Amino acid sequence: LFITVEGPDGAGKSTIIHKLSIKLEEEGYPVVLTREPGGIEIAEQIRQVILHTSNTKMERRTEALLYAAARRQHLVEKVIPAINEGKIILCDRFIDSSLAYQGYARGIGMEEVYSINQFAIESMMPDLTLYFDIEPEVGLGRINKHNDREVNRLDLEALEFHHKVREGYLLLLDQFSNRMRKIDASGSEEEVFQISYRIVKEYLSR
Ligand code: C5P
Repeated sequence: LFITVEGPDGAGKSTIIHKLSIKLEEEGYPVVLTREPGGIEIAEQIRQVILHTSNTKMERRTEALLYAAARRQHLVEKVIPAINEGKIILCDRFIDSSLAYQGYARGIGMEEVYSINQFAIESMMPDLTLYFDIEPEVGLGRINKHNDREVNRLDLEALEFHHKVREGYLLLLDQFSNRMRKIDASGSEEEVFQISYRIVKEYLSR
């Protein structure tokens, strides 16, 4: 079972997916918790290249290709073997991040980004995707609070960008309504966890 967790920055998905993995393991499910970009050595190296190169320097299609390359390696090396062993894979971000961030927010086009990703994943789509929905003001506010930063011009640019990311995700929610579930991530950690847990358990008992 391949489950992915998606959402804009500051939605709290990493915290919730971690709690989910602990809870499911306690119940005896074999769980693999992983993340993108990363999760294995080659993909973590690609992550370093992407995240530590300034946005102005890296061309957007280069960035999209690197994400797709990291995704390919992670899928082949870690996700597919785990699926074949009957495990539950909880993956922090997958193709929808590329569609929302690079395809929609960076303006490459969702169709274009979808096609390079099809090359990378060969139709290996998630069974279930939890989309954590949050207003960018709230999401980025959480991150800034974390880093104790003041709002400045860069944050305003980031805000505009994250509005687009969210718009992209909402379009995906329409398009992939069969596998995507929207979760209001503005509530408390416990509330968001309980909703997520219930959705996963419902899926498991189908
Ligand atoms: O999920 P995580 O917070 O670790 O992602 C790291 C960063 O990579 C985030 O700031 C996110 O906005 C960015 N990202 C991106 N495009 C993707 C995936 C992640 O810009 N396809």
